Parts: sequence; structure tokens; C-alpha cells
Amino acid sequence: MSYQVLARKWRPRSFGELVGQAHVVAALTNALTRGQLHHAWLLTGTRGVGKTTLARILAKSLNCETGVTATPCGVCGACTAIDAGRFVDLVELDAASNTGVDNMRDILDSARYAPTVGRYKVYLIDEVHMLSKGAFNSMLKTLEEPPEHVKFVLATTDPQKIPVTVLSRCLQLNLKPLPATAIEARLAHIVAAESVAHDGPALARIARAAQGSLRDALSLLDQAIAHGGGEVREADVRAMLGVVDRDHVYRIVDALLALDGSALIAECDAIAAGGGSCASALDELAAFYHRLAVVQLVPEAVAGDEGPRLADYATKLAPEEVQLAYQICVQGRADLALAPDEATGFSMTLLRLLAFESAAEVAGDPPAALASPKAPIASPKAPIASPKAPIASPKAPIASTDAPRGRRELPDDPSRWADFVASLELTGMARQLAAQSELKSIRGNALALAVPAVHRHLADRAYADKLKAALDAATGRKWLLAFEIGEAGRASLAAQERRRRDEAQATGEAAFRGEPFVRDLVQRFDGTVRVETIEHRSGAESAPPAAKPSRESP
Ligand SMILES: [Zn+2]
Repeated sequence: MSYQVLARKWRPRSFGELVGQAHVVAALTNALTRGQLHHAWLLTGTRGVGKTTLARILAKSLNCETGVTATPCGVCGACTAIDAGRFVDLVELDAASNTGVDNMRDILDSARYAPTVGRYKVYLIDEVHMLSKGAFNSMLKTLEEPPEHVKFVLATTDPQKIPVTVLSRCLQLNLKPLPATAIEARLAHIVAAESVAHDGPALARIARAAQGSLRDALSLLDQAIAHGGGEVREADVRAMLGVVDRDHVYRIVDALLALDGSALIAECDAIAAGGGSCASALDELAAFYHRLAVVQLVPEAVAGDEGPRLADYATKLAPEEVQLAYQICVQGRADLALAPDEATGFSMTLLRLLAFESAAEVAGDPPAALASPKAPIASPKAPIASPKAPIASPKAPIASTDAPRGRRELPDDPSRWADFVASLELTGMARQLAAQSELKSIRGNALALAVPAVHRHLADRAYADKLKAALDAATGRKWLLAFEIGEAGRASLAAQERRRRDEAQATGEAAFRGEPFVRDLVQRFDGTVRVETIEHRSGAESAPPAAKPSRESP
């Protein structure tokens, strides 16, 4: 016996077998039972959801020798002939290949004659939106005054392309895309009936890949059976679909967390070398971030063998970082079509993730970078540590090592200014002022500091006072600060930090800076912390003024 493809073998032959279209089946069953038959039905829905299958069942319902019925017998001459595709009174036409008006005229001419063997002549026109205007017009005449023995079943994936005049003469029934769970259940039923060895995750994968189309799912199942030598195993299905392994996803996320650009690129290459699809990799990555977001929001939702792993990742990323990463993945997925090639689009998206990840990293820990919490300048231990405190406590010297920065000289070497301000206990905008400034000169108690023009807003009195207070406290002197606004120099702490980061992530940074998408995201997410960080990272060269939250402050 020759092998019959599953989609054909398991094509539903009755309304009861039809998967997932209960609302349409109910409407048709009612109409058939009550004998209220429309003369033209329009079935709409995406590919593979059962439009033509439904049309054929309807043809049987109309022509079954047991009478017009919602439950055609399936064994009479009419039913078997329709199932076998050789019923003379069922005229199937694919409008995609017969768009012309002549075809339509021929067909409609024949409509005038009574059915040969059946009760009704049924015209099934698939992809009816493809008909030409002339063909629609000639069909319209028949639709307006259809002979008693004629029924039209029109099917389309694109009802909006059908003229209103035609639409208004049809009873429209919308078939829904099938949920993956319904497809999976159907697949499970079929493999059980066919005695095909299988595992559950494999079927779930196929169901998801079919994207709502049962026909696609069945043809994928056919392929999987062939691919797996008669069995359906998850590993085979993954390979067949080019699905990217979850381990790849973990390694990508690990590389991102470690800000390890080269590991990221290596993973990219590994996926390509393994024949994985970039689209699928981005899907997997987005799905991962989705699961992570769920776990962060609803910790008790952690389920399955991935649970502990997710819980661990959930502590390493802030919820808003997860949101942003997800957004970058789906956007990158959409942009794949525009990329020079898939691999380029994919690695670009990963670099974008990396750029944002490192931006978030920098934003997350400025206090640690600036002033070690172990050496708070205003700490009560500081006086003890000072050489002027001759208390003979044996603990004093030990305490002094805890606070080595008690009183320090302000370096007169401008190149050491950055290290000095890095040790000041400053936060927020004052910290930014310190980081962006360069020491120009010291004359007596007067400090001349230069601030790049793009950061002139930092030289605000309020922030300057805080910087002065920190300098006074650190050095034990009273300083006068004078700011000059100028070009960005190389000696500021920010410039130093920028250079360090640049060296570490030259590629990611460049990708990040050049992207119009970045601005779009920044706007959409309204994330001030990130915006600040981005500015500091990109320095004077490209800071967009509009993104500066403090610009309006006095
Ligand atoms: Zn029958």
C-alpha cells in the first residue's frame, strides 16, 4: 500500500471531526437542520484552517443520498464520490489559476443546467479574491438570481479584496487560526492512531511551528516521521525546523550578563554552523525573556525543569531590562527581512542587546565605582583615623586602614583629577558633574574646571555646591569652583570610563550609537536612568539634546 500523506488521510470527513471551528460548524449545522440554506457562503480564514475541507463536507451535506443533513452518511454514492474528489456536481475551481472572465463564463453557463447526479450543483471557488473584475461581474449576475439547484461556496484568505457587491450576497463565515494546543491534540490523536512512536515536546514544537494551520502541522508531521525514520523525536524535529537549542539561548544570555562580546559572537557562529535558523533563535530568545518576565512577576509560576534556572536569571536582570531585551528581540526579528542577510541581522540584534545590557550595568552601580562604601568620608571613624587624634587606643591604626582617604591633597596634576573625583562620595547629578569635568588649574583656593558644552547643564549651582562640599570634606579646605564650558576633553572621569568601555565593547558600542532604533526605544521606554547612561557612554559626540532629562532644571 502506498503511503498517503497525513493531511489527506486525516482530512476530516464530517463536521464532528473538524478541529477548532465550533462556531462555524454550529451555524452550518443549524442551517442544514432547519433547511434554511443560503445560496452562497463565503468562508474566510488564513491558510490551512480547513476552508476547503469545510466546503467539501458542506457539499456532502447538500448531496448526501440520505437527504440534506448536517451529518452526511459518508457511505452513499454521493458522499464517497465527493470524498474521492470525483463528484461531477461539485465543481472545484482555484481562482488563483483561473482568474479570467472566460473561465467564469464557461462555469456559470453550466450552472444553468440541472445537476447530473446530485441534488445541488456546488461551485467551490478557492482564493476567490484572485478573480478579475470582469469575472466577479459575470459571477454577480448568477449570485443575484441563482438557479434553485446552485450553491456557491467561496473561500478566501483575503476577504477585503472581494467587491462589496459580491460580499453582500454571501453568508460570511470566519474560520479562526487554530490554537497550538488544539493542533497538538490533533497530532497526538493521529500519531496514536498511526502507532508512530513519539515524544510530547516534539508534537508541541510542530504545533507551534505550524502557526495556526493544521494542514501545515500535518505536513510537518509527515516530514518529521520521514526525518526520524518512522519516529517523531524532539531532537529530530528541532533539527528539521532549524529550531535553536535552549542551551544556545542560555549561553547567549550568559554572554550578555558577562558583557562578553566575543562569547556572544562565537555563539552566533555556532548557531549558524549548526544550521539553526536566526529567526528561530530570536524567537527562542524572546520566548526566554517572556518566561523570565512571567517568573519575575509571578514567582509561583515557575514550573518545569527550567524553573530553578529561570529563578536564578530573574535575580540577575531588572524587570525593565527584561522588557527592553524582549522588545529588542522581537524588533530584531521583524528587522531580519531588512538585514543584508539573516546572520547579520541576528548578530546585530545580539550586539544591540549587549549595548543595552552594558548601559544598564553602568547605570546600576555608579556608587560602587565612585566611592567604596567601606571608606565613607563622613564616617565617624574618620576623625579617629586622622593623625591629629592621639588617642592611644590600639584600635586606632587598624581603623585608619579602613578610612585611608581621611584628608587628602587635591592633585595639582590634571591627569589625576579623574581618579580623585572617582573617590568622592557623590551621587546623582553632582556625581555626573564631577565625572564630566576636567581640572584646568588651581590658583590658591580657586579651582578652574572645564565642562563639555553638551553637559553644560551639569554646571548648575545646586550640583556645583554639592561637588564643592565633597571636595571641601575630602581635602579639609574651602574651595571656590569656577566652570568654563568648552569642548570635551580626555581627562575627565567620564572620558576615562568611556575609553575603558569602548575598548571592551568597541563593536557593540558602534552598533548602539548608529542605530535610529535606539532613539525610538529610548523614547518609547521613557527610561531616564538609561538615557543618562547612554549619554555618558556616547559623550559629546552624539548626545541627543532631546533626551536630556535635566535640561530644563534651573
Ligand atoms: Zn451520504
